[in-house]
Amino acid sequence: MEIDAILHDLVDLHLHLGSASTPHFLWELAHEQGIRLPEKDYWKFINSVTIKKNTTYDKYLHFFDLTELIQSSPFAVEKSVHNAISYAYRNADIQIIEIRFNPMLRNKKGEHDLDKIIFGAIVGMKKACLEYPVKAGLILMMDRRFSKVKNEIIAKKAVKFKNDGIVGLDIAGPMTKEFRVPDIVHAVETAKKGGLKITIHTGEVTPPEEIWEVVKLLQPDRIGHGVRATEDLKLLKYIAKEKIVLELCPTSNIRTKAAKNWTDMKRIVRTLISNKVLFTINSDGPELIGTNVKEEFRRLFKLQILSAKEIEKAIQIAKSSTFITMN
Ligand SMILES: [Zn+2]
Repeated sequence: MEIDAILHDLVDLHLHLGSASTPHFLWELAHEQGIRLPEKDYWKFINSVTIKKNTTYDKYLHFFDLTELIQSSPFAVEKSVHNAISYAYRNADIQIIEIRFNPMLRNKKGEHDLDKIIFGAIVGMKKACLEYPVKAGLILMMDRRFSKVKNEIIAKKAVKFKNDGIVGLDIAGPMTKEFRVPDIVHAVETAKKGGLKITIHTGEVTPPEEIWEVVKLLQPDRIGHGVRATEDLKLLKYIAKEKIVLELCPTSNIRTKAAKNWTDMKRIVRTLISNKVLFTINSDGPELIGTNVKEEFRRLFKLQILSAKEIEKAIQIAKSSTFITMN
């Protein structure tokens, strides 16, 4: 079967603003704002904002530091969101897109008003949706390195802008010894009470024990990655029963070594299918790792990880589990 025939009108539910900007866009955005870059040579700069080889989880996250710096103003966030949506539509026919970002990592430690940063993202999103036939939503991210208080501020901001395009709350960031799932229970409850949906980065590198805590204490609608749930069959059954949707990002998992290789990815995906766990396929960082949802499906089909029928089902699950109100 010619797989491209079914790869249209696609959905990307897991995409970070920090890894969705093309190198030339970031280069020009940095120059426009007078930001001093670590590289004066454009071709060397490309290596600072793209990952071509497999790396480690911590090194992968390190790549975000530079893009976050370049995206640290209301103007830059607006342009970046617009760029991410228009690229996703043109490159991969993404017609439903959820973009996630942490506003507190883009306000120069308080120099910029947080509301203006969030509003910049909303304006960029609305502009892109006027230009392309795309439905879009924004997810605000808390961070594992942040205090309880800082994360709660982000949850409150997400609720404040709910009617303007913020659709959900998430947490991401590097692993820290200090982070505890119970510390974000209140923030997540605030977001839920405010009418937002919840997705949580867990089980990418963290063990099944943390996923258990997340599903029991936070009861999220979706989980970012969650691939390590395949190490615990009881957990998989629970996730399937609760209809929590996993946002899989295969190439990203290979790059960060969350999955050892494509054979391991096949084991993960087949285990999810045999345990009836719902999942979607996403890009995570299209420009950083050089992929998109269409490419992910092509690869999964070619490697016989997913059949055409299973690909259609994953697209359908993505359409029904988006946080965006579809009317
Ligand atoms: Zn992610």
